[in-house]
Amino acid sequence: MTTGRLGTGRVNRAYTGIPTFLRAAYAPDVDRLEATVAVLGVPFDEGSPFMPGARFAPRSIREHSLRFGPAGIVDFATGETWLRRLLAEHRIVDLGDVDVRTADPETTMAALTETVRAIRGRGAMPLVLGGDHTITYPVVRGYDEPIHIVMLDAHLDYGEEPHGMVWTNGQGFRLAHALPHVQSLTMIGIRSARGKLEDIERARANGATIATMPVWRDRGPEGVIAHIPEGAPCYVSIDADVYDMSLIPGCVSGEPGGPSWDEVRATLMAIARRCRVVGFDFVEVNPLLDVGTGATSYLGALTAASFLGFVTGAD
Ligand code: MN
Ligand code: MN
Repeated sequence: MTTGRLGTGRVNRAYTGIPTFLRAAYAPDVDRLEATVAVLGVPFDEGSPFMPGARFAPRSIREHSLRFGPAGIVDFATGETWLRRLLAEHRIVDLGDVDVRTADPETTMAALTETVRAIRGRGAMPLVLGGDHTITYPVVRGYDEPIHIVMLDAHLDYGEEPHGMVWTNGQGFRLAHALPHVQSLTMIGIRSARGKLEDIERARANGATIATMPVWRDRGPEGVIAHIPEGAPCYVSIDADVYDMSLIPGCVSGEPGGPSWDEVRATLMAIARRCRVVGFDFVEVNPLLDVGTGATSYLGALTAASFLGFVTGAD
């Protein structure tokens, strides 16, 4: 029985086998990593101040990623097929998940940072599956090179919790923005009525570029990233709640007035064209709240796999 390899004659129905992302080879030893892309799950939701459940997302997104066959991902808008070459050449591996120390986020997040640093040290690009949005700051902390951050989110995640709380999902971008190697921060899709104007002011005062929904729709996919130098190294963080809430029943933080799949896809394509993407994450899917066959996990798998295709230009 052959496993872990696409295109070798197996039918590989989505419900069969061990669910690694896109049925990539499982290679949990980061010190011996040989790959272009390393998938890393972070089943962590202790930073979610509302409802828990995002800890189940890495496994759920992996399961839904198995619904994409060995032919890759067909994009009817562009007439292209993504991922085929990448998968055929086996340059993507799945590292499995960060070992979560329940109720000890400091240690869990330190392990996450250490793993990302090791992935970069082996020359691979991390594709990180959250987890709640707390995880992006420790991921970005693991980069030793200068990077620009682009995030797609309905919320700024630029607040400041009282009592010195660090590991929550509403402030990671304030922390990440302050890291010395972070060159710029671009926030796209901002619209939550629960946001604070003082957070916008603070982010802008620190030099962040904020594209609210009207700005995004006015300037378009290329316009909202035009200030990022061409070819610049970019880390991209995608919060599921950037999508219009009608698309993401399995997400605790949905907001109305958000973009469609087509709009998000066009912007991710523009980012992949303009920047040198050095890593990305997809966060905040909550399978406990999801409906039907797992619509939100499917959208997460589609978004992550498509962006991977755009970034690697694989076809
Ligand atoms: Mn977020
Ligand atoms: Mn959000």
